[in-house]
Amino acid sequence: MRQSNLLLPTLKETPADADVISHQLMLRAGLIRQLASGLYSWLPLGLRVLRNIEAIIREELNRSGAQELLMPVVQPAELWAESGRWQKMGDEMLRMQDRHERDFCLGPTHEEVITDIFRREVQSYKQLPVNFYQIQTKFRDERRPRFGVMRAREFIMKDGYSFHLDQPSFDATYQEMYNCYERILQRMELNFRAVEADTGNIGGNNSHEFHVLAASGEDTIVYASNGPYAANLEKAVAELPVAEATPPEPMARVATPNQKTITEVAQLLQQETTRCVKTLVLKAEPSDTQTGAPLIAIILRGDHELNEIKAAKLPGVAKPLQFADEAEIVAAFGAHPGSLGPVASPIPILVDYAAAALSTFICGANEDGVHYQGANWQRDCPIDDQQMVDARNVAEGDPAPNGQGELQFQRGIEVGHIFQLDRAYSEPMSAYVLDQDGRDTAPIMGCYGMGVTRLVAAVIEQNHDSRGVVWPQPVAPFALHIIPLNAQKSDAVREAADALYAEAEAAGISVLLDDRNERPGVKFADADLIGIPHRIVIGDRGLQNGVVEYKHRSAENNEELSAEAALARVAGQRL
Ligand code: ATP
Ligand code: MG
Repeated sequence: MRQSNLLLPTLKETPADADVISHQLMLRAGLIRQLASGLYSWLPLGLRVLRNIEAIIREELNRSGAQELLMPVVQPAELWAESGRWQKMGDEMLRMQDRHERDFCLGPTHEEVITDIFRREVQSYKQLPVNFYQIQTKFRDERRPRFGVMRAREFIMKDGYSFHLDQPSFDATYQEMYNCYERILQRMELNFRAVEADTGNIGGNNSHEFHVLAASGEDTIVYASNGPYAANLEKAVAELPVAEATPPEPMARVATPNQKTITEVAQLLQQETTRCVKTLVLKAEPSDTQTGAPLIAIILRGDHELNEIKAAKLPGVAKPLQFADEAEIVAAFGAHPGSLGPVASPIPILVDYAAAALSTFICGANEDGVHYQGANWQRDCPIDDQQMVDARNVAEGDPAPNGQGELQFQRGIEVGHIFQLDRAYSEPMSAYVLDQDGRDTAPIMGCYGMGVTRLVAAVIEQNHDSRGVVWPQPVAPFALHIIPLNAQKSDAVREAADALYAEAEAAGISVLLDDRNERPGVKFADADLIGIPHRIVIGDRGLQNGVVEYKHRSAENNEELSAEAALARVAGQRL
């Protein structure tokens, strides 16, 4: 393509409202433009990258035996009522009515639609397993759209769904999809990591997220220093602590008049925060007998943080998780937050394993301005095994499970998520097939998501330098950038550039020819910004010596080569 024909509005300045490098470069390199919050247009150069990524995804999924189909963006409310999600989805789902006042939504995901197709079109176990996918626009009215296409409201997802008669069949496809995702990300030359992930409310044991490693990632991923264990912080566990054996000291009341935080209390008593426990009060699941607002406390070691996803799943904790407000706490404890503790707690307590392992600890005395020192679980506050839970975020340096060294942290961009849906849709939507015995049976479903537009940003997060994007060849918008210098003044340069351009096109190389009447400096800056892997510069002086300048975007220096040898470099050959 000739650059003079290409809408390629590059920007010199970094746009003020773009916080992460990929968003900045996508705007500066003319890949995208914002229409409204979380809504982006893909300009020609950006679309070429998007299409390359889609092509890789399609090839690998087709190779895995998945079949592509395409479902509507607009979906009727009735389907969502059948799965129970019309009510559950909340504000992320954009709803609307048609002229007949029927309810519809813009699809945030497609489980309901695919299950509906399945129940209409697939009748027998003999047709299983099946694995469908689409590459389709999704709409989610995200609370905080940010980082450009990384967390947009309208975005493109590859979503896949498989249907199975039994667990072994599901497990085989799940493994195939896992391998397929690895192949896709490897082909894009991304540095990524698959981690165990939280399954949300659906359950099932199998769930993995694929994270592109980047400092700007919104997720914390946790991995063992010495073994294969890797999980999202939402789900990560540490090796269970061994209970401390120090003989308990006697419990004593101490006045802590203005010390409200763990750090303040620890400082006053000249102890580490690891010797304190903190008491977080949540709403409890109402029992049949309770009236009013029942509460439950979670006790953590002073230096630890609550993991809200783990906590929301604990028995007795209200779902979704909700913190008690101050008035409810004072009504129950007769004391304010900052002076609460497990000893003689007026409400049921759950104790995180790490807190439960302490032999003596400091805690609030459930009396304003008073703490206990030297409290001991079994002597002062008996707890049983059922009350000991995993409710915290693991910390860096914690022992990894099964002796795999220490836990370490990295930031990740979630680009894919695969998991087992079980019968969460097939059952309520009566998507039955006949099994071997002629009985109706609901298939196990798998679900495989990949953020196609987010991947473009993730590639840039890992492939850029101070001058711009450095595209990996497999996703690059063009393979070769031909830059004639001062062609407006030199017929020889223009003719050589045109000839090389024609030759590259004939050889099937995707090539961009910078035929603009711009100064060399402008052309080079734009070339670096848009990051096409191979660059051939044609100038008068070189032509007189029979050479052009070849440079790979990631190389430091130019090389003077014959046009033929330079073109061979694009194909990875050295002549
Ligand atoms: P997140 O935790 O990031 O909100 P999610 O759990 O909602 O993700 P899924 O429903 O599993 O995401 O969607 C599958 C994939 O779609 C994600 O792995 C991600 O790559 C992509 N994705 C999800 N939400 C967005 C968004 N708002 N903008 C761009 N891509 C997204
Ligand atoms: Mg989300």
